[in-house]
Amino acid sequence: MSKTFMGWPTFPKAAETATADEQLRANVRRATHTIRTKRAALVEERPDWQDLRDTAAALKDDVLAHLDTYLEQIEEKVTAAGGTVHWAADADEANRIVTGLVRDTGESEIVKVKSMLTEEIGLDGALEAAGISARETDLAATIVQLGDDLPSHVVVPALHRNRSEIRDIFAREMGKHGRPAPEDLTDEPEELAEAARLHMREKFLKAKVAVSGANFMVAETGTLCIVESEGNGRMCLTLADTLISVVGIEKTVPTWQDLEVYLQLLARSATGERMAPYTSTWTGVTDGDGPRAFHLVLVDNGRTRALADPVGRQALRCIRCGACMNICPVYERTGGQTYGSVYPGPIGAILNPLLKGADDPQTASLPYASSLCGACNEVCPVKIRFTDVLLKLRHDVAEGDAKVKHRAEKVALKAVEGVMDRGPLWNAAVKAAGTAGRLLPKDMNLPGPLHGWTDSRALPDIPKESFRSWWKRTEGGTK
Ligand code: SF4
Repeated sequence: MSKTFMGWPTFPKAAETATADEQLRANVRRATHTIRTKRAALVEERPDWQDLRDTAAALKDDVLAHLDTYLEQIEEKVTAAGGTVHWAADADEANRIVTGLVRDTGESEIVKVKSMLTEEIGLDGALEAAGISARETDLAATIVQLGDDLPSHVVVPALHRNRSEIRDIFAREMGKHGRPAPEDLTDEPEELAEAARLHMREKFLKAKVAVSGANFMVAETGTLCIVESEGNGRMCLTLADTLISVVGIEKTVPTWQDLEVYLQLLARSATGERMAPYTSTWTGVTDGDGPRAFHLVLVDNGRTRALADPVGRQALRCIRCGACMNICPVYERTGGQTYGSVYPGPIGAILNPLLKGADDPQTASLPYASSLCGACNEVCPVKIRFTDVLLKLRHDVAEGDAKVKHRAEKVALKAVEGVMDRGPLWNAAVKAAGTAGRLLPKDMNLPGPLHGWTDSRALPDIPKESFRSWWKRTEGGTK
């Protein structure tokens, strides 16, 4: 059965294990620093970078405000071009639709490309249960799948692996799923890429059905667009007889001219390149060229829920470039799997609770997976204000279902509420706190469940005199 994030521990629990893994931290640090340095150099050469960001944010906000209209336009154009549009309200419905479509072809093995959404909805598991094997074709996704692992980054899902780990995975696993790796395979990048190329080519040539995601959908023509680096996308999109694209409804852009804005931002932000090596676009089906059947499955799965949040809806602008995770000091230390989702890092910390709701301890822990340093605000090409959304979500968690609140925080706030309600008791508490503040050592650890607070912080300075006492003594500051 394909591995999933189902039942994943809360962020602090998962981070305890991840931060103790020195190899993981070294791999993540090396990879994120390489990409962010390349990105910074390319952003520097665009004097209009901030204008592009402003435009991209405004365009997406317009799309989100008129999403129903644009989606109907997409349906009309795709249908007119010979495709079939399906609507899926949630993961179960999307999986049912895709499984049914593959079953109808009679095929039992399919290839996949650029399909983060299919990870989100657990499509591989649903297909497996129906006796259909789905093989990834992006290099990093293949490494994750062969290693029975989970993704840790939106652009480079195997970012937590170094090349000698990848060599071991290829040598051990490729033969079980098709063409084996050469016996003398080393960890040289060229050799690893060649082994993957030969292994996948066999799959491309055999597959009659391909499942893809899409980076963008252009409403004015019903065109889908995939941006990738390896050419595997082009193979999937053109060689299969049936193409099924499973796409989140927020991937919409109104026109080709708008698409141009995002293409300039995406490659620079994602991989530090001026443009992606492969940009593929397709509209319905064309006689004698490419797939003979095209299905577009439009998936909601929590997106309209996120849209209903006036602060959080900006997370739906995301174009999955990964820049926020490459700059994030928390992600750098914990890696991506700690977030328990295909969407890790700062975008994961806000998108997962927005899509799923913060009613369980795992998603409720995510808005706290941030130091609120704001580095992500600065790099995001679509100008998502992460810190605003994080604070809003923390508020929702604190006000929400009691079972996901931090227990110690809840007890402390209840106690403070009781004391503040009674004037004399409050005065006595303030006095006692002042005395304790003078007597207790600064580096003291608080006892019991409160120790988590002082493990990583010094006790704050407590003033010698309370405001009330100062006010009384100085008669309102006049003496
Ligand atoms: S939130 Fe912004 S920076 Fe992060 S992946 Fe999405 S577009 Fe990129």
